[in-house]
Formats: sequence, structure tokens, C-alpha cells
Amino acid sequence: MDNLVDPEELVDTEEGKLLKFQCNLCDTEVVHSMTQLLLQALATASVDKTTGDIFKSPSSVAGGMKTELAGYMIQRCEPLPESMDGHQVRSDQLTKASTLPTEFLSDLVDDFVTSKRNMMSHVSGFFSSESRLNKIKDFVQKLETENVWAEDERKATTDAILRKIDVKCTFHCPERFDTPEKLAEHESQCKFRIVNCTNDGCAVSCCAVHIEKHDSICPFKLLPCEQLCEQQVMRSKMDKHCETVCPMKLINCPFYGVGCETAFAQCSLDRHCSGFLQTHLMYVVHVITRQGASVNDMDQRLQLLEKVQSLNELSGALDVRTLTLVTKEQESKINKLEKDLKAQETKMKKLENDLRSRK
Ligand SMILES: [Zn+2]
Ligand SMILES: [Zn+2]
Ligand SMILES: [Zn+2]
Ligand SMILES: [Zn+2]
Repeated sequence: MDNLVDPEELVDTEEGKLLKFQCNLCDTEVVHSMTQLLLQALATASVDKTTGDIFKSPSSVAGGMKTELAGYMIQRCEPLPESMDGHQVRSDQLTKASTLPTEFLSDLVDDFVTSKRNMMSHVSGFFSSESRLNKIKDFVQKLETENVWAEDERKATTDAILRKIDVKCTFHCPERFDTPEKLAEHESQCKFRIVNCTNDGCAVSCCAVHIEKHDSICPFKLLPCEQLCEQQVMRSKMDKHCETVCPMKLINCPFYGVGCETAFAQCSLDRHCSGFLQTHLMYVVHVITRQGASVNDMDQRLQLLEKVQSLNELSGALDVRTLTLVTKEQESKINKLEKDLKAQETKMKKLENDLRSRK
């Protein structure tokens, strides 16, 4: 867009000068969300218009749809004739348009998209179906990668719409000047000029009018320590600082384990330790005494254990003796059996001899 103004609006009423040079700056955040909205509208209308149509795809209608959508938006943003809708409706719309331009545009987009739905897409449940939403999402991406509606072109359309509906000049700059020098001077001060965040390490840039809002959340902003040590700490590193290196971090006394339950800022460690030297020594002595007692106790336990051990060995020995006895018993039984067997054998031999002599 160039900076030349519509000839009808050129004259400064007070001084009669020709104001040919206009500041074209506006709220980039609002313009960005509006241009995204237009792209979404184009995708939705193209998908809805061609649903179920075997001869047309969203891509085949997107070009014509784009021109139609831009024309429709500009036309709808012309001031409404008062007699048509009555004063109340018109003033409500103007209020919405001038305070919430993105929402106002969204209403117009809905009207446009609804008017483009074809018969096939009226099948019940279609508009809330996931497949439609996915189709639209995919098509938005396609429009972006194929640059069907160039961003510059979309921005120009958005700009034109914003200048029509933002009657209170909240989101765009209305200033005009009679020389390019004066315009340039103004642009360097305009509240919609782009400024960089000045916090070290931050790469954000935005309209001057929003920089304060950014500064209040900027992760690189240096802030006084929350625990009131003397350091300046980056917002994003505050938690870690407070939990680790901050001199004001509360810590337990290193003699906590032996009985000193005092907590203090870690920078006071030396002062505490030298101030409570005697107390700490007392705690340590107590612990040593207690440990001495428990060493005795351990000794006694050890002795007991040893006794138990030797008793166990003794009972093991007893078992061996029993076993020997049992073995001996068995052995004598076997011996007796062997003797019996021999006696039987002798008897048999005697009987045999007797039989032979009788023959
Ligand atoms: Zn300006
Ligand atoms: Zn920043
Ligand atoms: Zn600190
Ligand atoms: Zn202590």
C-alpha cells in the first residue's frame, strides 16, 4: 500500500493544507489474526461448496472464492444504511466492529461460509464431523504452501477492512501529513511502529503499544530476586536461582543430623556456625556417648552370637554320634544274618550227604 490518500479526504479543515501522506501503521496482532481468519474462511467455503461434488475440488474453486470473499467482506463493512436495520442494530454492530474487530469479522465470515454450503453438504452431522474439520485443516495448509492467497494481498484486504470498521482508531493510525518528512517523523513515534524488546537475549518485536504487555511476561526480563537477595535475575531463571544459588535460600544447619534444628539463609551459615560452636560441640559429644553405649551393646550381641554358633556346632557333632550308633546297630544285624545264612548252608550240606549215603 502506498501512503497516498483518497483525494476527497485530503484537506486539513483548520489550516487548509493538502494532507496527501497517511500513516499506514496498524496493530499487527489484530491484522495477523484477521488475515488468518480470512484464510480459514476461504478454506471452509471451498470445502463446503465442493463436498460430494465429483467434478469439483476445493482447489478448483479457491481462486474465484477468494475474490468473492474479499469483495463480500469489503461490501459488508461499508456503513449500513440506518433505515435498514434500525439504529440499535447498527450501533451494536459498530460497537463490536470498533472494539472487537476480529470477532466482528468472524461473524461476517460465518455468514459468507453459510451462503456457500451446497446441497450435498447438508447431510445431517456433516458440519460437526471430524472428517470435515480435518479436510478444512488440510486445505488451509495447502492454501498456505501453494500461496493461493498471498499474505501481502490478504494483509491489504484486512487493512482495508480494519480501516473501515475501526471507527475509534484503536487498531490503526489515522494520522495524515502534508509532507513525506512529517510523515516519516511521525512514523518513528507512532504507537503502532514496530519496536524490539530491549531485554538482553530476547528476539521479540511488536507494536510499541503492546511492548509493555510483552515486557510484563518477557522471560528475559531482569527482576529483583523474589527472596530479596541483592541480585537481578532473569524472569525465566528466578525459580532455579531461588532454589539453588540465592544467598537468601533457607537451609538447615549442617549439624541438623546431630540435633541443631535451626534453619537460616545460606549466606548466614558462617555466622551461625561460629556463633553456635559450643552448642554444636555439645551435640556431637552427646552423639559420641550414645554411640559408645551402642558399641557396648553390639559387643554383647556379638558374644551371644558366638555362643549360639558353638552350640550349633555341638548339636551337629551330636548328630554324627547318633548316626554312628545307628550304623553300628545295622552292621551287627547284618553280621547275625550272615551267620544264620552260613548255619543254613551247613544244614543243607549235611542233608545232602545223608541222602547220598542212603542210596
Ligand atoms: Zn501512525
Ligand atoms: Zn522480550
Ligand atoms: Zn536471590
Ligand atoms: Zn546449628
